[in-house]
Amino acid sequence: MIFIGYNDERFVSEINITMQKAMSNAVPRFLADHTALDLLNTVEIIDGKQCDLWQTSDDVKLWLSKAGLLLHTGKMDIQGDSLLNEARTLRETVRELVESKKNGQSLPIGKLNDYLAQSGSYPALKVGEEGILSIARIYQPETAKQLLGPLAEQAADLLAYADFSLVRECENHECCLWFYDKTKSHRRRWCSMAVCGNRHKVAKFRQNQKDAD
Ligand SMILES: [Zn+2]
Repeated sequence: MIFIGYNDERFVSEINITMQKAMSNAVPRFLADHTALDLLNTVEIIDGKQCDLWQTSDDVKLWLSKAGLLLHTGKMDIQGDSLLNEARTLRETVRELVESKKNGQSLPIGKLNDYLAQSGSYPALKVGEEGILSIARIYQPETAKQLLGPLAEQAADLLAYADFSLVRECENHECCLWFYDKTKSHRRRWCSMAVCGNRHKVAKFRQNQKDAD
């Protein structure tokens, strides 16, 4: 599935139409085996329509928390839709990079680097139990870009280190979810065996029945 840039007018109007149909009870699934791909999967196709699981800044906060990426230590004070807007822009930036890398195209890395630069994180030495020292990264919670810093780092990690022959989209053409195939056999085909895998099995079974008739 090809997404056009988030800043593109067509895409924004698409968001306004389909994404306002919030799926208030839709729960983001973490099935991609890489957080940066789970990020892309916060847009799903449901009943043939493209739906954004992020409708408010609180949806983004909840997702970050479930992804284990709310890593700041201070009090969060980000108002309005700024987190929602920045998170959606980061997501479509990452989507463009992932698709470009899959297609062997040149990578527009500037925008992602901007998120990384503005995350404002820094390393700090910590004293743990029995005086054992470790280095931890400290994150700031003051701006949306800072809050999204750990997520931007995950995206950079995927782009720099993942084996992209194993970064794939679900084979169900009515699905747009991505995954990182970490199975031993590297033959994963579906976002989820329980959903798209079974759907395929049922369709195949019906086809076989038909052919046998
Ligand atoms: Zn699927």
